[in-house]
Amino acid sequence: METIRCLILGSGPAGYTAGIYAGRAGLSPVIYEGLQPGGQLTTTTEIENFPGYPEGIDGNQMMDDLRQQAERFGAEIRAAIAVKADLETAPYTLTFDDGSVVQCHTLIIATGATAKYLGLTDEEKYKGQGVSACATCDGFFYRKKQVAVVGGGDTACEEATYLAGLASKVYLIVRKNYLRASQAMQDRVFENPKIEVLFETNTVGLFGEDGVQGAHLVRKKGTPEEENLDIAIDGFFLAIGHKPNSDLFRPWVKTDETGYIITEGMTPRTGVPGVFAAGDVADPLYRQAITAAASGCKAAIEAERYLSEKGL
Ligand code: NDP
Repeated sequence: METIRCLILGSGPAGYTAGIYAGRAGLSPVIYEGLQPGGQLTTTTEIENFPGYPEGIDGNQMMDDLRQQAERFGAEIRAAIAVKADLETAPYTLTFDDGSVVQCHTLIIATGATAKYLGLTDEEKYKGQGVSACATCDGFFYRKKQVAVVGGGDTACEEATYLAGLASKVYLIVRKNYLRASQAMQDRVFENPKIEVLFETNTVGLFGEDGVQGAHLVRKKGTPEEENLDIAIDGFFLAIGHKPNSDLFRPWVKTDETGYIITEGMTPRTGVPGVFAAGDVADPLYRQAITAAASGCKAAIEAERYLSEKGL
C-alpha cells in the first residue's frame, strides 16, 4: 500500500498553505481536495481582506493561485474525498470515495467547516448574488444598502453589528421570540439604531432580478396571528451556525460539543502523534482565510519536525 509522508486533507487556505510549507520542506505532500475544491472562498466573490492584494482578488482566483503555489513546490493534488479514517496506529490509514486506500506518517486535517443554510432553493439561486454566509467577507459590498441577517446566536449578533457599521439598515431575522446570544452581544444589537430585530420570523423565499432585492417572510407561522411580509434588502446573510467537517476523526481526536477539533494550546497538535488540525475545522472563533493559512503553515512545520524526530 502507498505510504505518504505528509497527507493533507482539504484544499482551502489551510490545506494549500500546509502544502506550500510541506513541499518546500521536502515532505512530498499529497493534498486531497475533498468535497469543495478550493474551499469556502470559492463561494464568495471578491476577497479584500487577505494581505497582499491591495485591489482585492476573486475568491476562485486566489485559491487557484494557492494551488499553483503548492504544486510549484511539489505538492501532488488529488481529487478525492476521504470517506474513512483509521488513526488507531501509525502509519494511519485513509480510504477515499474512489476506492483508493493509502497510509500516511503525518496527517493534516484541513477539512474546513460548512456554513449552514436554511435549505431554500432561492439561496442556491442567489449564492454570490446577494446571499452570503460571511459578513466579514462580503459586508463591504453592502455599504449604505439594506441587508438581513438570519440567526439569533452570537455569530448572528456579531455579524448584524458588523454590518450595521456599513449598511444603512440591518434586519435580524430570528425564528424564536428571544436571542440565544450572550447578553453583551444582545445589548449591542438592541442599542444599535440601525438594527431591527424581527422575532418569531421565518424566511420562506428571496426575490429579485440579477440578485437579491428582497425576502419573503412569515411572522408567527402556524398561529392565528400568522402574517406574511416582504422586506427590501440587497444582501441576505446566513448566521445559523457552521458544521466543522470532523466526523471521520472523532473517535480519535478531541472535539468540542459542536465538533470543532480541539488542538493543544497554540499548536495544531491533536493529541494523536503526527496528526494535526488546521483551519476552520479547528477554529470556532476566527474562521478567516488568513488565520486558516497561518494554521496550515504551523501544521506543516509540526509535520516536518515530527518526521525528522522519527527519522521518517
Ligand atoms: P449557534 O448555534 O449559537 O446559533 C445558531 C442560531 O441560528 C440560533 O439562534 C438558532 O436558532 C438559529 N438557527 C439555526 N437553524 C436555524 C434555521 N433553520 N432557521 C432559523 N434560525 C436557525 O451558532 P453561532 O454560529 O451563533 O455560534 C456558534 C458558537 O460560537 C457559539 O458557542 C457561540 O457562542 C460562539 N461564538 C462566539 C462569539 C464571541 O464570543 N465573540 C462570536 C461568534 C460565535 P434557535 O435559537 O432557535 O435554535
